[in-house]
Amino acid sequence: MTKKLFYEDSHMVTFSATVISCEQSEKAYEIVLDRTAFFPEGGGQYADTGMLDEVKVIDVQERGGIIYHKTKQPFETGRIVQGLIDWEERFSKMQQHSGEHIVSGLVHAIYGYNNVGFHMGKDAITMDFDGILSKEQLKDIERKANEAVVKNLDIRVSYPSKEQLDRITYRSKIEIEGQVRIVEIPGYDVCACCAPHVKKTGEIGLIKLLNVQNYKGGVRVSMLCGFRAMEDYEKKSESVKNISVLLSTPEEEVFCEVSRLKQEITSSKIQFAQLQQKLLVYKVEQIPESEKIVVLFEDELEGNAPRELTNLILERGAVIGAVFAGNEKSGYRYVIGSKRYDMRMLSRQLNTMFCGRGGGKPEMVQGSLAGKETEIRKEVEMCSKEVLGNESGD
Ligand SMILES: [Zn+2]
Repeated sequence: MTKKLFYEDSHMVTFSATVISCEQSEKAYEIVLDRTAFFPEGGGQYADTGMLDEVKVIDVQERGGIIYHKTKQPFETGRIVQGLIDWEERFSKMQQHSGEHIVSGLVHAIYGYNNVGFHMGKDAITMDFDGILSKEQLKDIERKANEAVVKNLDIRVSYPSKEQLDRITYRSKIEIEGQVRIVEIPGYDVCACCAPHVKKTGEIGLIKLLNVQNYKGGVRVSMLCGFRAMEDYEKKSESVKNISVLLSTPEEEVFCEVSRLKQEITSSKIQFAQLQQKLLVYKVEQIPESEKIVVLFEDELEGNAPRELTNLILERGAVIGAVFAGNEKSGYRYVIGSKRYDMRMLSRQLNTMFCGRGGGKPEMVQGSLAGKETEIRKEVEMCSKEVLGNESGD
């Protein structure tokens, strides 16, 4: 069994230990020490990282009470090594983890919900509860959780006997074999947990509940504590500041201003579509009524405009109308229609020649392709003439 120094002092950053064994595993060496301050992965907390002498510890795992430190270099048995924990990372994890205890304890005490999932992600910590919490309820929990921080309570750890344990009410995610380690935040939470925590709630700093969303019949709550909450505040505040400068609007009014701008964009889009429609009508009016095959190339045609333009061409009297929206560089969207002839053959022909795709009903086909305007035009006109020629005897 490795002696677990992180249980004696969760704030131990350096320690010395003797190498008991060093085994080569798949892509690393697994170092066993007589004692360690490296916390292995467990209890919803990732393993510590840090150094053993000059060698980086990339992962730490526990199997059967023995802690294995993964490194890229071997260590000889009997060597005395100096361990150094990446403290910034470990302390942050303890802040998040201890904050989670307070929040989960409060949710359990007030609403009776269990924490059924805990994940320390890159963006935030998430906690899953087996019941629904509203944003208002979460706000209340957040307030109470931060009160617990301000009270600067001692976080107590105990190892009760089986008999004592029977008399304690505590939260526990799983049935734990052997000695149970109880972590208590007086008045807030009693929970079986194997991870290291901060010593006093004041060390957690700000507890910020970021979001709540429905998840598997309950809710997923995202949270940040301490320095991570501060960094998040900094990032968001910077973002609001930038938007404020960009819009020349006071920070507290950016939401109203963005809403107003969004509305403006929507009405501009409607106006643009109306103007485009007018332009299309104007364009079609310029086409001689005698033209039976009309092929148009337009760079800027949004949404439904190619189809509308095709319909306008057909209404003008053309037998076949073909509209290509786009350009040679980024390719074309096409709509080809006819009130009398089946256009599917023409569509297939174009798709084959210009690496296109698409199809449709006999009277109207649409798709996309890529090629040179002159070549596409030539092909459409040739095929159209063929269609008209074949049927002219009718
Ligand atoms: Zn814990």
